[in-house]
Amino acid sequence: MSMFCYQCQETAKGTGCTMRGVCGKTADVANLQDLLIYTLKGISAYTLEARQAGIATPAADKFIMEGLFATITNANFDKAHFVALIGQALIVREEVRAALVKAGVAAEVTHDSALWFADNAAAFEAKAAAIGILATENEDVRSLRELLTYGVKGMAAYAEHAFTLGYKEAEIFAFMQKAFVATTNDKLNADELVALVMECGKYGVDVMALLDKANTSTYGNPELTKVNIGVRNNPAILISGHDLKDLEELLEQTKGTGVDVYTHGEMLPAHYYPAFKKYDNFAGNYGNAWWLQDKEFETFNGPIVMTTNCLVPPKASYKDRVYVTGVVGFEGLKQIGERVDGKPKDFSAVINHAKQCLPPQELEQGEIVGGFAHNQVLALADKVVAAVKSGAIKRFFVMAGCDGRVKSRDYYAEFAKALPKDTVILTAGCAKYRYNKLQLGDIGGIPRVLDAGQCNDSYSLAVIALKLKEVFGLDDVNKLPIAYNIAWYEQKAVIVLLALLYLGVKNIHLGPTLPAFLSPNVAKVLVETFGIGGITNPEADVKMFMA
Ligand code: SF4
Ligand code: SF4
Repeated sequence: MSMFCYQCQETAKGTGCTMRGVCGKTADVANLQDLLIYTLKGISAYTLEARQAGIATPAADKFIMEGLFATITNANFDKAHFVALIGQALIVREEVRAALVKAGVAAEVTHDSALWFADNAAAFEAKAAAIGILATENEDVRSLRELLTYGVKGMAAYAEHAFTLGYKEAEIFAFMQKAFVATTNDKLNADELVALVMECGKYGVDVMALLDKANTSTYGNPELTKVNIGVRNNPAILISGHDLKDLEELLEQTKGTGVDVYTHGEMLPAHYYPAFKKYDNFAGNYGNAWWLQDKEFETFNGPIVMTTNCLVPPKASYKDRVYVTGVVGFEGLKQIGERVDGKPKDFSAVINHAKQCLPPQELEQGEIVGGFAHNQVLALADKVVAAVKSGAIKRFFVMAGCDGRVKSRDYYAEFAKALPKDTVILTAGCAKYRYNKLQLGDIGGIPRVLDAGQCNDSYSLAVIALKLKEVFGLDDVNKLPIAYNIAWYEQKAVIVLLALLYLGVKNIHLGPTLPAFLSPNVAKVLVETFGIGGITNPEADVKMFMA
């Protein structure tokens, strides 16, 4: 075994990647990511003390958030990047420690994660070998520690998107760091860790609400929108990931250049925001979910900008056209630098590159409809409530979450097709690509697939459910005619799940498989407390949900 990682749904054999990640992550990168997380826990030990002493640590808060984000599945595969980050982490840790000493605070910090030190890559790799996930021997404690860690990783990713737009909450940083320190505390028992996992769900709701506020305050409320999925005859740039600020700056800089901009994967919902509709060169969405990029980037012909996680190791045939920015990294890819002194990122190299390229090759024609975040759905509330009362809509299915490579995800397209025609799918995240082009029709003008947006917009689905509960005068969100059949893939989906559990949603079905990081005992707690279940086959599951 040269590494151990089981943080995503596609982990090898459903148990753990041990030689190389199914995602393409190499063993040395996986181990360095473990060491980075370990060191972030050490920084957190000091920031907790600093917070108690009233000392602000904004640089450390930001560093911890960005470091966590860099370790999310498909974000960064670059060994040199992690060596540099670990070096910086040791400096940040020392700065917080020094601030405590200067303030005369005698910090009681004894865990090795806060004390270890080395100053070169070889020593980092040696240290990494000793502190991996399996170093926690008790499998239930390990399971809960990792569940908490992955929830915090998802939280960090959403916090970072909000931060980029100028929104942050001190309580969210404080929770991330408290949770991290808890994962190094051998005195905490399983019940205490379960309580922290639930608290993580609370902050999951908070961080998604914060991001919703950041996005809607900056770009307006998503609205019903038809998005072109064909192509035009201009050279073009494809942008993927979740970062709307990057998209805004790219659109501003491509204005009037003759270069079109298309979205891919999780960037599709950007079309739903009013602020981006003024750009004539914002041409449409090209392709599907993240995992198809190795085919779709080839036929796109122009340069591609990856703004957050969702990168698949690029093929040689298009590698020279892929640009990365923010936390994204892969050896040999061109980097778009960060904003300096409040000035926008410089996309001129990408734009010049696009001008040398052929227009995209057409994959399909037509339109997809979306923009059903909370504000738009609540604007249709009277219509929706009337349709439920008249029996025109029998049930809603929340099918938010992720798409992925595994064949078993065909289930979700088949499930959508098998649903009775008096049901409506509420979706968010890249899972939608399994059924958003199926022409499932509408119910009295309400489309049968209502797409709220990116995976963080699952928050919108929760807001809609809570509003419906109020409108129908119910005392429990589980009494609504809403079923949850959610697909997960990576750690953002973990925080979405914990947020739904915190909001009291029960009987969520999770697929295509339950997380490998849930030990049998932890899985049992989730099943018994929250009614979490798996999936079987589309026909049987539709019958079960409708019964
Ligand atoms: S992120 Fe997923 S596929 Fe990649 S190494 Fe970890 S478990 Fe394996
Ligand atoms: S929907 Fe899932 S796979 Fe897609 S970006 Fe979000 S968390 Fe990742």
